[in-house]
Amino acid sequence: MSSPAPLSLPAVEVAQEWVQAEATAGLERATGLVDALRATPPTDALEALRQWDEVHLALSNVAATGSLLSNVHPLEDVREAAEQAEQDVMRMLTRLGLDRELYDVFAGLDGSGLDAEAARLLAKTLDDFRRAGVDQDEATRARITVINERLTELDQRFGKVIRDDVRTVRVAPERLAGLPEDWLEEHPADDDGLVTVTTDYPDAVPVRMFAHDAGVRAEMTQAFLTRGWPANEPLLQELFTLRHELATLVGFDGWASYDAAVKMIGEGPAIPTFIDRIAEAAEEPMRRDLAVLLARYREDNPGAEVVAQPDASYYEEVVRREQLQVDAQQVRTYFDFAKVRQGLLDVTGRLFGLRYEHVPAAPVWAEDVTCYDVYDATTPDGGDDVTEPFGRIYLDLHPRQGKYKHAAQFTLADGVAGRQLPEGVLVCNFSRGLMEHDHVVTLFHEFGHLVHHVLGGRGRWTRFAGVATEWDFVEAPSQMLEEWAWDADILRTFATDASGEPIPADLVERMRAGDDFGKGYHARTQMFYAAVSYWFHQDRPEDLTARMRELQERYSPFPYVEGTHFFASFGHLGGYSSAYYTYMWSLVIAKDLFSAFDAGSMFDPVVAARYRDRVLAPGGAKDAADLVADFLGRPYTFDAYAEWLAR
Ligand SMILES: [Zn+2]
Repeated sequence: MSSPAPLSLPAVEVAQEWVQAEATAGLERATGLVDALRATPPTDALEALRQWDEVHLALSNVAATGSLLSNVHPLEDVREAAEQAEQDVMRMLTRLGLDRELYDVFAGLDGSGLDAEAARLLAKTLDDFRRAGVDQDEATRARITVINERLTELDQRFGKVIRDDVRTVRVAPERLAGLPEDWLEEHPADDDGLVTVTTDYPDAVPVRMFAHDAGVRAEMTQAFLTRGWPANEPLLQELFTLRHELATLVGFDGWASYDAAVKMIGEGPAIPTFIDRIAEAAEEPMRRDLAVLLARYREDNPGAEVVAQPDASYYEEVVRREQLQVDAQQVRTYFDFAKVRQGLLDVTGRLFGLRYEHVPAAPVWAEDVTCYDVYDATTPDGGDDVTEPFGRIYLDLHPRQGKYKHAAQFTLADGVAGRQLPEGVLVCNFSRGLMEHDHVVTLFHEFGHLVHHVLGGRGRWTRFAGVATEWDFVEAPSQMLEEWAWDADILRTFATDASGEPIPADLVERMRAGDDFGKGYHARTQMFYAAVSYWFHQDRPEDLTARMRELQERYSPFPYVEGTHFFASFGHLGGYSSAYYTYMWSLVIAKDLFSAFDAGSMFDPVVAARYRDRVLAPGGAKDAADLVADFLGRPYTFDAYAEWLAR
């Protein structure tokens, strides 16, 4: 079978017209398909699903190019047009979700003759409609529309307050001793002799990690944990209230249960149970590492009972440096970007049986974006499929003006067998020279999403394409792939210094010990965040600060800092709502998945192929718990995670 052709992206200077034309065409196509579905509803269930999937494909293509280009395109006009396209799709999706006539078409279908996957699609389609509130009376649907609009607005305003509320701390230059040379050079004193330090990550993180002056760390922590307050408190109160109302209008007891119903965890009350289970497993490892941290802290602060929160990251670094002998400056000499990128392609190619072919002629949105076609390397030479690509990937890995600031995988096209090739993009902000090992790990992580998107993009339905699994599973394949960036034998294949000397195994050993230090109390901190995310939605407390303090005392390894309001800048309360637990949930599964690989032969072709075919390739066509069980030969458990945590 011959593969569909990849998308052809526009040249930079005509991109704005291209985005607008693609959006108009996609929305018109979707509208036409929906009109036809309503006017002459197919009685054959499979045919109705096919037409509905075409609607999804048309809309997902507009949404994908919109989301990608609004985040990466160098021209502002293009970014704005792309953002507009994405908003238009969202509006249409909301409208379709509440379209009673359309719902009746699907509710009236006889699905008894459908195969398992199509039957699953029909069930999911009906569930999507009901979750949107389509089967409610007219007044309720009108109220839902109002709530949805207000929720979008609140979510955007909440995020904007966090982005805009950048605070500053002004300090004498000598009080910044301990910070790296290059950072100090970028922060000269102002005319009055003081240095301005902001609460943005590139300032806040190194100041809290490296400033020897405890007073500076305290001022920074105070400023950092008050961002967004008080402006965001009333916005959050309204957000929680409206989410609760929406959930109850469509038949749930509250937002957490509504949200959990489409995730692996299944139901709201399972969230605090999970949080407490992790908190308990982390208790002993937390105490162990806190004792080490406190002992070192007392050398400078005799008689201290606990490590103060503003001092935690600083002393964590001190312990790593003094007791675990990890010198970040030495580590980075082994991670040259060009070699790391080639290493990533070699490692993942070997693991997943893929071959990446550079496509220098493919149009891209910025100069240093590279494009590759992905081929199946497991087909014997001469096989028919050898010349047909599996998909196409773009790597956009360096910072640029106006570009997305974090690291993420973006979809460019969802893959559907015989219909459309999967195309995905890695958007990161790495240096062009030497990299921190942390960034190497991030690169492997994000590539895990990309490979999932490509390998899962050969199924029958758009709705199940690529990373369309439950949201609390989606991080597991990526978190697992991070392990390949921590293996000494693998690292020595590409991590070499300027003279070509590979990274020594004992240095990797120390790096791992350094990374492991504090994992117990990090898990507890994560559970504090997860508890805030769940209980704020579940109980909608009147005094958010008071409730947060209570949860901090219960879960966090470090005491509350008087006068701070961390929740006001906790951006995940927007997008993740009550489900911040998902990162840890995915990690538990990632550790279990990894337990199937033998640490001595991480490329074992049998295990790797089973993982690729049973976990990644199905995309969202099965429940994640079943995908995992298909691979492991048993249901997933908590054991591998607990063992790792206790180690
Ligand atoms: Zn991720």
